[in-house]
Amino acid sequence: MRELLLIPGPTPVNEEVLKEISRQPISHVSKEFGEHLKSCVENLKIIFGTKSGEIFIIPGSGTVGMEIAIRNFLKKDEKALVLSHGFFGDRFIEILEEDGFSYDKIQSKWGEVIDLNLIYEKLKKEKFSLITITHVDTSTGILAPIEDYMKVIKEVSYDSLVVLDGVCATGGVEEKMDEWGVDVILTGSQKALSVPPGLAILSVSERAMKKREAMGKIGFYYGDLLRWRPTIQDATKYFATHNTNYTFGLKKSLEIILSEGLQDRYKRHYENAKFIREKMMEIGFDVFGNKNYLAPTLSLFVYPEGIDDEKFRSDLNKNGITVASGIKDLKGKVFRMGHMGEVKKNDLIYAFYVIKSILNR
Ligand code: PMP
Repeated sequence: MRELLLIPGPTPVNEEVLKEISRQPISHVSKEFGEHLKSCVENLKIIFGTKSGEIFIIPGSGTVGMEIAIRNFLKKDEKALVLSHGFFGDRFIEILEEDGFSYDKIQSKWGEVIDLNLIYEKLKKEKFSLITITHVDTSTGILAPIEDYMKVIKEVSYDSLVVLDGVCATGGVEEKMDEWGVDVILTGSQKALSVPPGLAILSVSERAMKKREAMGKIGFYYGDLLRWRPTIQDATKYFATHNTNYTFGLKKSLEIILSEGLQDRYKRHYENAKFIREKMMEIGFDVFGNKNYLAPTLSLFVYPEGIDDEKFRSDLNKNGITVASGIKDLKGKVFRMGHMGEVKKNDLIYAFYVIKSILNR
């Protein structure tokens, strides 16, 4: 039976990438390994849309990348503003609380984006040293209009550092770090970058790194970017052991991504999303969320009357296809389908065929 992983991460991994990952490890402090890191760094810059950004590749999941982005760039006496569109936007709130920072928040209704006037008014009234935004919140399938948010932020609060969570976006949706003026983009290896889970990846602006340098100790040994910096630039300078094999995999995957061509890749994501949504609507499903802001990387399909979520997903599973449940209030009402990275149109045609046959039984 054909197995098809259609959850919004981890996503299917190309055989060539798997082959790289399954090689024998090499020394993490060798010049040879340094060449692998260097290739990843250069190619990631292209994907993040940055020339001057500094890249960090750190063993860990996306969440550690989020915490790194807070702890390295926010001082204890400063305040953050969280722009949240759902579960993963709210995770920044949890991290800020856990780590003892003060913050304020603007939360959109799930399925919507934040009104630009609310951002404008909030920033007019108060100074925030750091602002977090989630590019695609995987709980809602909504793509935030970063360019619009950034215009407001730059106009009213130029000095605020902006952290963008690209975990469900980077590699499947265009990101223009330098042009937008974003200071940190963080992502994970397991979504549109098509590598198994295990690497947190960050791109950091020069001004954010200057701030980090001025901050001194941050009380976060493993996540301190000043400790990682030397070993990313020169692997012979040990800090903590790199994930050698996932770095081989990442290198290969980035080469595959760039050989597809970034614009072609983004277009493929957009067209595949449109295709599967149209097909699912033909058979009675609705697409959750404001139709003007749907993410190309995943969809939330709202069940028509009479379909039981658990049974539907378990029937799909018995046929080799794995999709994800809704989160929080959406549990039981929607299922989430990832269609990013290595997921091709043929996979979606196949998944649709299986879904249809299950429903007709
Ligand atoms: N942000 C977003 C948008 C995510 O989708 C996820 C994971 N689904 C995370 C952060 C957290 O990443 P991880 O599970 O790799 O820690």
